[in-house]
Amino acid sequence: MPELPEVETVRRGLQALIVGRTLRSAEHDTPKSFPNAAEDVQAFLVGAKVVAVRRRAKVLMIDLSTSYTLVIHLKMTGQMVFRGEAVFGAGHPNDSLIGELPDRSTRVTLTFTDDTHLYFNDQRKFGWMKLMPTLEVPNIDFMKKVGPEPLDADFTAEEFAERFKRRAKTSIKAALLDQTVVAGVGNIYADESLWGAKIHPQRLVGALTAKEFAALYTELRAVMNLAIEKGGSTDKNYVNAEGKRGSYMDFARVFRREGKACPRCGTTIIKFKAAGRGTHICPYCQVL
Ligand SMILES: [Zn+2]
Repeated sequence: MPELPEVETVRRGLQALIVGRTLRSAEHDTPKSFPNAAEDVQAFLVGAKVVAVRRRAKVLMIDLSTSYTLVIHLKMTGQMVFRGEAVFGAGHPNDSLIGELPDRSTRVTLTFTDDTHLYFNDQRKFGWMKLMPTLEVPNIDFMKKVGPEPLDADFTAEEFAERFKRRAKTSIKAALLDQTVVAGVGNIYADESLWGAKIHPQRLVGALTAKEFAALYTELRAVMNLAIEKGGSTDKNYVNAEGKRGSYMDFARVFRREGKACPRCGTTIIKFKAAGRGTHICPYCQVL
């Protein structure tokens, strides 16, 4: 599943490529992926200029000059691919990022007046692209519930620790993955940041010290920023805005490294299930 850094990679690529272009048409195969009335598409999408590409947690928003927004959730297998004078694709990693488009996974094709295209591909069809008034976007249930952005400049270590207080009896890993506490933290970044802060994922939130929260805050921001810098966490071939493949996995220190040595102490990394997810720790650096 594309996580926050991958979605941010999509956002940055699209921001550079589609802002200022004018939409000519939108074609889709299933209404599940594009649940919009034809009249709305005609009135608010066709002829509209793209004014900005934003992101909140793992949700993308393409703002249009008609004061409507295309809200996009990539879910499990969604990806966005731009084809024009430049080629850009990011999101779920598979060959559609670089192959001939549209293909069998293409759910929506947006065509601009300069004959360039933006494809929304989604093999499993869990994702969607909804057109709605820009002013209504903050009222979507998800937007009202989701926690603060961990990478926002004004999101402090104190606020981070404060957000966890109402989850005192939960394990720290489960709380980190709870999108209402902090937005956009997925399994990879939970494991990597807990290792960095030397915290066992099954420790209870209420038992963590202020110092541990401060370390976790610093580690979480560092791993997510590094992942964005590397174009996301995928370990398969795909191209980002600069035509580079995402390579954060080359920098992972515990995630999917079970059986290998902890880069800090040399102890063998182990994998087990915590908070319902495959979890990776160094049993020496992270004690319960
Ligand atoms: Zn270790």
